[in-house]
Amino acid sequence: MKILVCGEIDDSKISELSGKTITAALKLANTVDLLFVGDNIPENGEGYKGVLQILYAQHANYAHGNAENIASLLMTLSNDYDAILAPSTSFYKNILPRLCALLDVMMLSDVIDIIDAQTYKRPIYAGNAIATLKNTEKKKIMTIRTTAFETAQTLSGLPTKVISHVPSLDYASKFVRQELSVSERPQLSSAKIVVSGGRGVGSQKNFEIIQNLADQLGAAVGASRAAVDAGFVPNDYQVGQTGKVVAPHLYLAVGISGAIQHLAGMKDSKIIAAINKDPEAPIFSVADIGLVADLFVAVPELQEKIKK
Ligand code: FAD
Repeated sequence: MKILVCGEIDDSKISELSGKTITAALKLANTVDLLFVGDNIPENGEGYKGVLQILYAQHANYAHGNAENIASLLMTLSNDYDAILAPSTSFYKNILPRLCALLDVMMLSDVIDIIDAQTYKRPIYAGNAIATLKNTEKKKIMTIRTTAFETAQTLSGLPTKVISHVPSLDYASKFVRQELSVSERPQLSSAKIVVSGGRGVGSQKNFEIIQNLADQLGAAVGASRAAVDAGFVPNDYQVGQTGKVVAPHLYLAVGISGAIQHLAGMKDSKIIAAINKDPEAPIFSVADIGLVADLFVAVPELQEKIKK
């Protein structure tokens, strides 16, 4: 079985999510190639242990993750592979379903375990049940939920190959502009510590409490959907079923009730700590450490103690 893993580049650097997808791919077979696609990627042979070669596909038409052009590239490359895997990011969630439509095969999304070449596990019902699926398609196309896999060991000096395929079609979608949120804090999806605030925080101004605590801990800031909907923080902070899925070493939920849609995005965290004034809040059913307290008292106290 030959596998192609689609890697992700973040700020000209290989994202750790690529290494986690390689770990998943190596559970399927040990003939794994890694692809980087874009328009300004250093072709330096940096990849992961277990990768046979790195393919670089570079063209202006691939810039800004143009989904039609990249799906067309993958369609061409798919002739040489039995499976194509990519991290379950917004980028690849936009591309792989198009590839499946072009190939007329089913899509497997959010894979959390690979049992054998045909048997896979993925969460359903907002993570409340795990489905075991059989995929008998000739070509297996899947996104990997990276929080379920450790990252593979990095390795440099790997053999490289330049892919010269240029998409010939003039697609309907065009890049207009990109608005990136700039932050000094670690990225929410890969941070080791996440401090999240919910509706209980009360306002955009009060959310500074969460941000200050996060800065003190070198953590990323997350939020519940209620906090996002209330305008306390932008929606790229949202953790949950319809937000980001995170699995940090420590997830601190402050003023968050713990609705199942929120838990779907954070319950795989190694340690979950919660501060909530309601002892019946469902967040305490998943928390390893729970503090029943008013957050406006508990958080400043915690900050004082961390300072000491
Ligand atoms: P609440 O449920 O209102 O809880 C606020 C908590 O703060 C309460 O437990 C309260 O006791 C506590 N509190 C209040 N004041 C204080 C204080 N001073 N000190 C300490 N504690 C205090 N939600 C998500 O988060 N992510 C998602 O991706 C998501 N996707 C959804 C998708 C669908 C299809 C649907 C239907 C819902 C989705 N939701 C999602 C919404 C979800 O159902 C909840 O409504 C939401 O998570 C509630 O957010 P919350 O816990 O901040 O607010």
